[in-house]
Amino acid sequence: MGQLEGKTAIITGAARGIGKAIAELFAEEGANLVLVDMDEDSLNEVAGEFNAEPVIADISDEKQSVSAVEKAFGKFGSLEILVNNAGITRDGLAIRMKPEDFDAVLSVNLKGPFLMSRAAARYMMKARYGKIVNMSSVVGIMGNAGQANYAASKGGLIALTKTLSKELGGRGIRVNAIAPGFIETEMTRRLSEAAVENFLSKVILGRTFGKPVDVAQAALFLSSPASDYITGIVLPVDGGMLIT
Ligand code: NAP
Repeated sequence: MGQLEGKTAIITGAARGIGKAIAELFAEEGANLVLVDMDEDSLNEVAGEFNAEPVIADISDEKQSVSAVEKAFGKFGSLEILVNNAGITRDGLAIRMKPEDFDAVLSVNLKGPFLMSRAAARYMMKARYGKIVNMSSVVGIMGNAGQANYAASKGGLIALTKTLSKELGGRGIRVNAIAPGFIETEMTRRLSEAAVENFLSKVILGRTFGKPVDVAQAALFLSSPASDYITGIVLPVDGGMLIT
């Protein structure tokens, strides 16, 4: 039997990259899947591949996030798992960064998980069981030149994770974060050669990039009963980058 058999899971940003890899693994583990993204064509394709329910929504919009969670519950009649994976970058040095780019990144990467988590928590609290997994980043811990907005959003997401774990733990809801290092996806393909070399030099497991499935395995652990006594943690999936 799959580790997520009978459980309903929402995964945001599931049309590609890490979110898609999580969807694939969760499908193998028997979850009822609801995949949320803004990229309609890719989302429909991925949902078809994994027999999942696609929901087109912008998670940074309150109405759309609440409606996405309601659709998930309405379709499957329960909601045990929320993976807040959707995220964006708008890189640039702080002194040149447009305030709109700061707001846009904070809105998707931090406000989005806040809105989705509280919409999901309403159902999870009633059931006295839930797992929320927030996709942070090592740069939310270390900072990163050129990513003031992104690093602040991911650091904020860690603080949100710890706060929600304290507010919701008494109702059986576990809230944890993952801090990926450098994972090969569309997002990292946009980085400069110098930034890539800087990240690679810090990976102590043989200077290799991580794969989306490496992060998906951590998301599975934090979503499955195997981690039922764990809440409020930040699990790095970074090839050792954080300790260099
Ligand atoms: P990705 O390939 O860019 O995929 C992100 C997905 O999220 C896209 O399909 C995107 O759709 C969707 N999305 C963006 N804004 C959204 C919104 N407002 N509402 C709904 N969906 C939205 O990124 P990734 O590399 O897989 O990253 C996934 C997560 O891991 C992100 O939170 C990222 O910050 C985090 N992370 C990644 C790395 C890495 O090395 N790749 C490292 C640390 C942390 P559109 O195409 O329509 O924008």
